[in-house]
Amino acid sequence: MAKAAILSVGDELSLGQSLDTHAQWLSQRLVELGVVPILHATVGDDEQGLVDALAGAMPRVEVIIITGGLGPTADDLTREALAALAGPGLVHEPEAEVALRARFEARGRRLPESNLKQALRPSWMRMIPNPLGTAPGLMGTLDGVLVASLPGPPDEMHPMWRDHVAAAVRAHVGQAPVRCETVLACGLPESVAAERLGALMDRGRNPMVGITVSGTTLAARIRATGDACTDGSVESTIAAVEEAWGPLCFGRDADTLAGSIGALLVAQRAWVATCESCTGGGVARALTAVSGSSAWFGSGWITYANEAKVRVGVDPTLIERHGAVSPEVAEAMARSAAHAAGARFGVATTGVAGPTGGSEAKPVGTVWIHVHDELAALRPRRFLITGDRTMVRDRATALAQVMLRLAILGRDERKLLWEVG
Ligand code: AMP
Ligand code: MG
Repeated sequence: MAKAAILSVGDELSLGQSLDTHAQWLSQRLVELGVVPILHATVGDDEQGLVDALAGAMPRVEVIIITGGLGPTADDLTREALAALAGPGLVHEPEAEVALRARFEARGRRLPESNLKQALRPSWMRMIPNPLGTAPGLMGTLDGVLVASLPGPPDEMHPMWRDHVAAAVRAHVGQAPVRCETVLACGLPESVAAERLGALMDRGRNPMVGITVSGTTLAARIRATGDACTDGSVESTIAAVEEAWGPLCFGRDADTLAGSIGALLVAQRAWVATCESCTGGGVARALTAVSGSSAWFGSGWITYANEAKVRVGVDPTLIERHGAVSPEVAEAMARSAAHAAGARFGVATTGVAGPTGGSEAKPVGTVWIHVHDELAALRPRRFLITGDRTMVRDRATALAQVMLRLAILGRDERKLLWEVG
């Protein structure tokens, strides 16, 4: 398989002032093309540093993608470094100068002298037009290596990759079909998720399946090469992952848990309301982040104080007898929210997010979550969530959505992530 290096250029990156997101984004795009990135390098605004990095990468890869340093200022040196790499200097491109002047004139401005260098290209490279900015990209082949140099701003870099560079990379490395699909789930520990996938995760399998975790979301990344892209084995692998993870699978690729809940509620013409304590409105926020949620999300209450819980409809004697963090109060909160909003489902969270407020009986991280369903009797669940205050709140927010999703589906899962008892 062809290999690639990604060079990110800029003092702001090497000094740690901003994060290099291009290396990640470009690596994902290269992998989709069947090219394996083997090197990420970050170089400051230093011509010789960039020449050295390029010379070091050239013998190891078939493709080099550079971002940044194509601007008009004295610290933009990528163009010069690329010229120095091959010897014979920079060539003026009259058409590029015309385009630059037109761009400035269209805004009623004169072209600053410094921008003229953006009409120069290394003799071995051609220019890639940039309709979204002043810096054209550069692309050429040197010693069998395809080198593409793209502007730093992401809203210029991404379209240039998509419209010009991706096809050139594909042509350079030959057609090696690769297909990537993602199945998303929430509510399982990673180890259990991996166990359930079993032989699906064998290295050397095609399609290959890997698990990654981001926040509370589990992703099964399915990657097929060659014939496996088209012979149905991707589809059967997706089905096998969905079977293994069951109702905890909520979608694919860019889907969200809240979005999947919305789709289910729309299909059932059902409504949900929330009554949150420790998550402080996190569940309502996640649900209402879905466009069109006014068709299924009724009301949300944040009932932090006991009196607030009572005002929504919780019997004060329940709080006196069992405490606010209890299954009885979680049930009453969820039921009260559903009734007050006239919704079929009510979601409640009550817990100790910490770092203060824990006790032996209810340590920090203890969270009770309940989903009330007008048409079914469901049980409150107790969780002992690890992490700091933010993590406890975020994780409880996700778990409440998992429980809501299970309730809407009429499915159960014996034990969820962080569930105890
Ligand atoms: P430049 O083309 O070097 O002038 O970069 C212009 C801007 O693009 C920088 O100030 C950053 O905001 C952004 N940028 C450049 N390189 C990267 C990178 N590797 N990751 C994320 N943003 C970047
Ligand atoms: Mg820069």
